[in-house]
Amino acid sequence: MTRALGFILLFALTNASLLLLFPFTAYRFLTAAVLYAGGTFLMLVMLFHPRDRWFLDPQTDVPCRDHPCVALTFDDGPTPDVTPRVLDILREKNARATFFVVGRQVERHPDLARRVSAEGHVVGNHTYSHPPLFCFLSPRRLHEEIERAQDVVFGATSVRPRHFARRWASGTRSSRRPSIGSTSRSSYGGSGRTTRGP
Ligand SMILES: [Zn+2]
Repeated sequence: MTRALGFILLFALTNASLLLLFPFTAYRFLTAAVLYAGGTFLMLVMLFHPRDRWFLDPQTDVPCRDHPCVALTFDDGPTPDVTPRVLDILREKNARATFFVVGRQVERHPDLARRVSAEGHVVGNHTYSHPPLFCFLSPRRLHEEIERAQDVVFGATSVRPRHFARRWASGTRSSRRPSIGSTSRSSYGGSGRTTRGP
């Protein structure tokens, strides 16, 4: 809540800087331009930086403090052309992964979602329909996207996801992910490492 108020305050101050344009002078114009550009840049970073933690408090129980480990996730599946191949490789390497699945994809390929879960990987929630501009959805729509995906995944795997990743969660970022409810170390599988993909 505090963070949201901070963002709203920044938004208001950024737009208030336009008041400096009146009465118009070159100096006031330059000052307003710098303030407006700076405020806008900060807001964009808050909203879209791939490592942002501005609006969501991360939680993690990944045991990486005692020894180095790598956490890989595979997002946007399951898909018949990619997921089985990934699962085969993981099985060959005896590695566990986190699959952030899209609810709609799980509806199309429930057998693949079942296989992901049955082979000891974590199944995470990656929304129901993978909507763009996730940050700007209404609270009601956000709730629907998450809860509907929860239900679909549970229907296919009998497991309710405990982890959530929004769209655009790509790029280099830590293994920390916002969680749905409490987290459990065992949810990351027994190998102590998880895998990450696109
Ligand atoms: Zn995605």
